[in-house]
Amino acid sequence: MSIKTRFAPSPTGYLHVGGARTALFSWLHAKKNKGSFVLRIEDTDLERSTQESVDAILEGMQWLGLDYDEGPYYQTQRFDRYNEIIQQLLAQGDAYYCYCSKEELNALREQQMADKQKPRYNGKCRDNAEQQAELNRVIRFRNPDEGEVLIDDLVKGKIIVANKELDDLIIARTDGTPTYNLTVVVDDMDMGITHVVRGDDHVNNTPRQINILKALGADLPHYAHLPMILGDDGARLSKRHGAVGVMQYRDDGYLPEALLNYLVRLGWSHGDQEIFSREEMIELFDLSQVNVAASAFNTEKLLWINHQYIMNSDPELVAKHLQWHMQQRGIDAETQGPALVELVKAQRERSKTLVEMANASVYFYQDFSEYDAKAAKKNFKQGTDEVLQVLLDAFTKVPEWQGEVLHDIVLQIAEQLELKLGKVAQPLRVAVCGTGMSPSIDVTLSLLGREKTLSRLERAINYIKENKN
Ligand code: GLU
Repeated sequence: MSIKTRFAPSPTGYLHVGGARTALFSWLHAKKNKGSFVLRIEDTDLERSTQESVDAILEGMQWLGLDYDEGPYYQTQRFDRYNEIIQQLLAQGDAYYCYCSKEELNALREQQMADKQKPRYNGKCRDNAEQQAELNRVIRFRNPDEGEVLIDDLVKGKIIVANKELDDLIIARTDGTPTYNLTVVVDDMDMGITHVVRGDDHVNNTPRQINILKALGADLPHYAHLPMILGDDGARLSKRHGAVGVMQYRDDGYLPEALLNYLVRLGWSHGDQEIFSREEMIELFDLSQVNVAASAFNTEKLLWINHQYIMNSDPELVAKHLQWHMQQRGIDAETQGPALVELVKAQRERSKTLVEMANASVYFYQDFSEYDAKAAKKNFKQGTDEVLQVLLDAFTKVPEWQGEVLHDIVLQIAEQLELKLGKVAQPLRVAVCGTGMSPSIDVTLSLLGREKTLSRLERAINYIKENKN
């Protein structure tokens, strides 16, 4: 039988790191087994679900490259089907109407707490055949009294829960809308899900879901509950740790491949290998090797992986992502300066993120408004204008604008003026880049091109003359 997994987010916020890791593991299990992967939007909580959040989830999945074979399905489009199943459970005697009021249930809970018992529904309406006003009734699933539920979890191992621990759970609210445990069961059944991969915050729901599936005569899926992700301080990962939506990582200059690589290592390992291509992940990933213990998010490590990807990925791929960052800065690389691929090659060693790379590259495309104050003070001295003038004259005459040729000219001029190379190259760098940091001078000049170099040299010469005191 072919394998089918799903990712079933509730659209009540961004696609965050934990959700993305769940999606990735579920996706990997499907890919590895040549199965299929379903995206299901669990939007039945009408008050908390938003279109904005649906869009953010879809955007995050796309950016990460987690493609789905089916979906997105929306639970709000399946209410008729849920209702059909609820009616079937009622007809079978596996569900019943419950007329207990909130006050009654509160009193029951308080009593149970006072008696040091686990708060649970006492089954009062189980055998209440008498139909009452529809207004305030809910529908409960009649959980079996005897026996136990076995979950053979692919990550956690065997979990056994006695049925007498489980009370009769509400499957339809007073307004008739189905609850989470019912919709998940119906969807997993109808969609033929063979492996439910999800966060272990759902592990308490699983025995209840299994009992409903059994009542419906459905095949049971396998379950894999993933341990949670902690922040550096050992607390559950939250916004406080900077764990925000996945798209924030794009904005912060991470490559999706790097984030995926980082996520796959959160709770899974293969020897001490750190870097996995997408293909390798698919080949090597195994749900049964997922750690039982929670794993901690480590931003430093993510940054290191990102740098590895920036340095070692195909520059074309990096350039594609860099383009977005340049656009954010109002730069159209095609018309304003060097090809982004060349820029990537020049800047990748020194850039841990694409934001660093973009910020350090603006001058290749746009004139800077002012010189970096420290760099100007240090490098623009009396007489520097004359050095720059010699460079300008030589560069104006050079037949071919080529990095090595330009570098040789700088060397010759230094020799001719009896100056150390740094006394020529560094003022030149500040003159053309506005800052003292850039790739090597040959690469910098060849990326800048003749026009920008010459006009900026002129500008610097005038600046030094004007600022002479
Ligand atoms: N919609 C649930 C959530 O976002 C997940 C349900 C499931 O995976 O079974 O937490």
